[in-house]
Amino acid sequence: MDEMAHGVALPETPREFGFFIDGEWRKGRDMFERNSPSHDVTVTRTARCTPDDLDQAVAAARRAFDDRRWAGLPGAERAGVLLRTAEGLRWHREEIARWEVLENGKPISQARGEIDHCIACFETAAGAARLLHGDSFNNLGDGLFGMTLREPVGVVGLITPWNFPFLILCERVPFILASGCTLVVKPAEVTSATTLILADILAEAGLPAGVYNVVTGSGRSIGQALTEHAGIDMLSFTGSTAVGRSCVHASADSNLKKLGLELGGKNPIIVFADADLEDAADGAAFGISFNTGQCCVSSSRLIVERSVAAEFERILAEKMKKIRVGDPFDPETQVGAITTASQNETILGYIAKGKAEGATLLVGGEPLESDCGRYIQPTLFSGVTPSMSIAREEIFGPVLSSFHFDTQDEAIVLANDTVYGLAASVWSKNIDKALTVTRRVQAGRFWVNTIMAGGPETPTGGFRQSGWGRETGLLGVEEYTQVKSVHIEIGRRSHWISS
Ligand code: NDP
Repeated sequence: MDEMAHGVALPETPREFGFFIDGEWRKGRDMFERNSPSHDVTVTRTARCTPDDLDQAVAAARRAFDDRRWAGLPGAERAGVLLRTAEGLRWHREEIARWEVLENGKPISQARGEIDHCIACFETAAGAARLLHGDSFNNLGDGLFGMTLREPVGVVGLITPWNFPFLILCERVPFILASGCTLVVKPAEVTSATTLILADILAEAGLPAGVYNVVTGSGRSIGQALTEHAGIDMLSFTGSTAVGRSCVHASADSNLKKLGLELGGKNPIIVFADADLEDAADGAAFGISFNTGQCCVSSSRLIVERSVAAEFERILAEKMKKIRVGDPFDPETQVGAITTASQNETILGYIAKGKAEGATLLVGGEPLESDCGRYIQPTLFSGVTPSMSIAREEIFGPVLSSFHFDTQDEAIVLANDTVYGLAASVWSKNIDKALTVTRRVQAGRFWVNTIMAGGPETPTGGFRQSGWGRETGLLGVEEYTQVKSVHIEIGRRSHWISS
């Protein structure tokens, strides 16, 4: 019998995966073993693909693109595959949620919710596949008609991170498929399972062989090789700003492939004195603790009006103490395990720096005692100054830094005092303040009196060093297309050489 955690079976032996090229499973020679962050049992074994495996995956995606087995279909047929995939995800919801928990450490209730979002991504992209279109220019004079065609970019390389292995995958894949592109995916090595499981679900839904290919292995080897591969027309990368920068170099040094980058963030949450403080405190607690703060849009800088700062921090600290941290298979758990040992060290390192640099610890600040897994209590620092490392650097953990302001302009300056521009939120019952801040703070995603709300209909992406391009929504499909301008002569063109 498999060991049980809260009624969910932990695997007695690790599940072994091959990698997926041209509609077929292949066996790896060298294998990577993943231990679950919450129970420390070996849960999966995945292949360490070679550069030759990658070449074969790119070649399969190229054949599938060039012979138009996918791009040549009517949008309605591509939509059909995406809708059947959404249905497949409903059937496989529990299986996918379980592997997300086992590899990533996130709470099971959260994993289930994320899969519902993934289903919505496939359904939204299905609509977009049917609606994708160019434009026409009927104003070029009676002799000329113009139009723009939207054509798929070609073979897309997709590199995804470990914090939302399935969600980020599904915020990309259906939109890439809707555009008519084919792809080669490289998931983060520690969380590869659900990207591989999706291969079978797509195939069952009727996706032609060669359109979705998966290679596994480390970022430094197979990821880097993918960024440099001249057979890739566009690369979509989600992860750290440092690796995002190396993708830019790799593109420049290879074939100038188009890039979509979703990178780091140091996202502000601005609370005015006239906000509903209970509501805003709940939002702040959620914004920093969701997914253990391992979230590119985590609101990690609290910027609160000085007149209510002490009261607000007291309410917030009380709420943060009540967050249920622990075994991710417990359906009551709100915050699970830290996904990797190195991320755990990084977070604890920042907490130590915060203390050493003189910030005041209001709550948390310690790892939680546990006989299985790595857990950190959601942490709040007050009295943070802009030069401290916890104020400037992306921690990617449940650590919130609080700053105080006196005027609206000061709040805006503090919010923009970062190299990033991924997400922001503002809390105020005064529409003028809320709208002014929304206009003047640099961020690709904005929330007013709410946080992390929204679905796949709206585009996501960053300003500044948080990235290039947009994912999801209609823009998220257009991102994977290129525009061709076409001019058509009506009648006989006037000749250049006189007869
Ligand atoms: P990385 O940027 O290293 O990893 C993200 C993805 O890129 C993974 O699939 C990884 O593969 C791959 N990768 C790593 N190195 C290369 C490379 N040279 N070329 C191509 N692909 C590569 O993030 P980390 O996992 O190291 O996390 C470090 C920090 O990055 C975090 O603390 C956080 O600040 C930030 N981050 C931000 C994310 C976001 O959503 N914006 C997501 C993840 C991290 P593999 O893991 O197999 O090595």
